[in-house]
Amino acid sequence: MKYFSLHHSSPYVDFKEAALRGQAPDKGLYFPLTIPSLDSKWITDFPKLGKTDIGFAIMQPYVGNTIPDDVLYRIIEETIDFDFPLLPISSSISSFELFHGPTLAFKDVGARFMSRCLGYFACDQNVKTTVLVATSGDTGGAVANGFLGIEGVDVVILYPSGKVSTVQELQLTTCGQNITALEIDGTFDDCQALVKQAFMDIDLQKKLNLTSANSINIARWLPQQLYYFFAAQVWDIEKPPVIAVPSGNFGNLCAGLLAYRSGLPVKHFVAACNINDTVSSFLQTGHYAPKPAVATISNAMDVAAPSNFVRIMEIFHQQVGDLKKMVSGYSVSDDITKKTVASVYKNYGYILDPHGAVAYYALEQFLSSHADEKGFILETAHPIKFPETVETIIGDKIPIPAAVAPLFHKQKKSIHIAASFDVLKELLFDRY
Ligand SMILES: *Cc1c(COP(=O)(O)O)cnc(C)c1O
Repeated sequence: MKYFSLHHSSPYVDFKEAALRGQAPDKGLYFPLTIPSLDSKWITDFPKLGKTDIGFAIMQPYVGNTIPDDVLYRIIEETIDFDFPLLPISSSISSFELFHGPTLAFKDVGARFMSRCLGYFACDQNVKTTVLVATSGDTGGAVANGFLGIEGVDVVILYPSGKVSTVQELQLTTCGQNITALEIDGTFDDCQALVKQAFMDIDLQKKLNLTSANSINIARWLPQQLYYFFAAQVWDIEKPPVIAVPSGNFGNLCAGLLAYRSGLPVKHFVAACNINDTVSSFLQTGHYAPKPAVATISNAMDVAAPSNFVRIMEIFHQQVGDLKKMVSGYSVSDDITKKTVASVYKNYGYILDPHGAVAYYALEQFLSSHADEKGFILETAHPIKFPETVETIIGDKIPIPAAVAPLFHKQKKSIHIAASFDVLKELLFDRY
C-alpha cells in the first residue's frame, strides 16, 4: 500500500515512511492510495473469527511488507489484549465500551499499535525517534502507557498544569523510563502551540527525529477501524446499526467510514459534537466555518478545526451530498450533556461519561425520526476519568475500576516549566 498527501505535492510513501513522518513534507495528511475491498464471503464469516485474526486481515493490506506478517500479528495481538463489550442501555441504544484498555480511554488501541510499529522500525534500522505530543488529558495517558518501555522511542508529553483530572495526571506523570511529562504553565492551546513550534524548528527536528502521536499519524488512525469490526461480532449483522461517535478531531469517525467503505455493513453514522460544532454545522448548513474552540465538560472534543475532516471528504470523493446521506451531525450543549448523564443514570442505572453522553443524546435525536432503526454509541472513556463532573451530576460515587486504584500509590513526576519555546528547546537539547 502506498500513501499520498492530501495536499498532492509530496511523493508517495509506504506505511513505514508515513508512520515515521506523521505528516507529509507539504504538510498534508497521508491517505491510502486505494481503500481495500473485503470480499462478501469474508464479511459474512468474519464475526466468527478471533479478534487478532480480524485485526490482521484488516491491517495487513495497509501495512504491506514494511512489517513481517508474524511481527504484525503479534503487534495486533498485544494491541487489542482487552475486552470490547456491547451493553444495552435502552431498547434502541447500546453502549460499545472502548475504555477497557490500560488507561480507560479508546485512544489506547491507536497508541499501542503505533508505539509497537515505531518500536519495530527503530529496532530494525537502529534510529532513535522522539514522540512529542500535547494533551488536554486522554491522549497523554494512552501515549505514555502505550510507549512505556518501547526501545528506541522517547516520549515527551506536554500538558496544561492544573487543567487535567487527577487520574489523567497520574496516568501521564507516573510512568518514568522513556516517558517525560512536561507540566506547562498555560492552557492546552499553549501546549499545542509549543509542539507545533518544535516541529518547525530545524535544530530540534535534526537532533531528535521528532514525530507526533495524534490521529494525523496513520499508525494511530488506521487501527481504530477495528472497533467497528469488533462491534459487528456482537451485533446482529443482518440489521446494520446506526453508530454515534463522540467526535473532536474526527479520527475515530473517519476510521469507521473507512471500515464502511471496505464493505462493513453500517446503516448510518452520527457525528456527535459538543458546542464546538464546525463539522456538525457543516453537515446541516453546508458552510465550513471554524470558530475558536470553547471549553466544555467533554473537553477531548474541544476542537475548532478537526484535522481529519479532509480525510472524510476524501473518502466521499469531495461529494458533500454522498457524505450527508451517510453521516448526520448534531451539536450538544453542556447543559444537555449533564441532563443526559443524569437521566440515563436515573432511568437505566448506566453511568455515561460526558463524551458518551453527547453521543447518546445525538443518537436519540437521530432515532426519534428513524424509529425503525437501532444503534449504539462508542463510549470513548470511563466516567472515572471525569469524576468531579460525573459524580456531581449523578449524586453518587463512581465505582473505581481495578486499573485505576494502583495509580494513587504512585509518585507524580513532572518537569514544571513556563509556556516558553526557548525554555522547551533548551530542555529538550539538554536532555537528549
Ligand atoms: C479523543 C477523544 C474523543 C475524540 O476522538 P476523535 O478521534 O479526535 O474525534 C472523544 N472522546 C474521548 C474520551 C477522547 O479522549
